[in-house]
Amino acid sequence: MATTDRQATTLALAHALSAAERGLAVIPLSRTKLPALRSPHRDDPAPSPCHGECGRPGHGVYDASSDPDRIREMFAAAPWATGYGIACGLPPHHLIGVDLDVKTGTDSSAALRELALRHLFTIPPTVVVLTPSGGRHLWLSGPPEVVVPNSAGRLAPGIDIRGAGGYLVGPGSRTGQGVYAAAPGTAHLAPAPCPRSLLRLLIPPPRAHHPASAPAGGHGHGLVQFVLAAHEGQRNTRLFWAACRAYEDGIGPALADALADAATGTGLSEREARATIASAARLTGHRP
Ligand SMILES: [Zn+2]
Repeated sequence: MATTDRQATTLALAHALSAAERGLAVIPLSRTKLPALRSPHRDDPAPSPCHGECGRPGHGVYDASSDPDRIREMFAAAPWATGYGIACGLPPHHLIGVDLDVKTGTDSSAALRELALRHLFTIPPTVVVLTPSGGRHLWLSGPPEVVVPNSAGRLAPGIDIRGAGGYLVGPGSRTGQGVYAAAPGTAHLAPAPCPRSLLRLLIPPPRAHHPASAPAGGHGHGLVQFVLAAHEGQRNTRLFWAACRAYEDGIGPALADALADAATGTGLSEREARATIASAARLTGHRP
């Protein structure tokens, strides 16, 4: 048993290192698919807000690295690891995982096909990982300026999205349920860019300050207010969302300057703001 575990660890490390060679940041996982390194704050009375600032390992996906030495260190510190997780949302791929589950009573593949028909997108050839329970993970890459959040069943029952702060169990990992493996013919592929209309479904509409309820000044004014109200950490996402709505409603070109001004007012650089607006224009099929 001990030998088998050691082999599983060695194998997981080898797979993790080849994922890192492709630019993916990884962490060791235990058999339960949870991060294998224990939190250095586990004995603290209150949950720790630390995301690795203390300099010690054990902060889950925040430990993720594509540096081979760092990866070897993490596996050496967690000899019980039998798998590895791939962090989503990080450069260079800004990985988005579409997790198609096979819970009883849901056909997530059919649900995705239906979404694709309704929103006119096709899933391009990309890495597909087969899970031991019969599910599939589709790997897609996102644009750098968009933060795709994690969600479970929001798109359709059985479809979970792994985005920023989430991770995917890497192919070659062994878990309590079995081995994760790349689907035949997909292992060598790069994560394909997420189709535009699917990406739009993955970015949730903001809850507060709905532009439609904006006071005098009309829709454009509401969108500008929406950008102005952004806190740090949501500035790019809000600008991107507002710019997409503006271009979809045909007021993109007229509103671009006002949106850029609002965004720089919240602390984004002019260059970042323009790049985000240009990206929203492209995403909605317009010329920036
Ligand atoms: Zn810490």
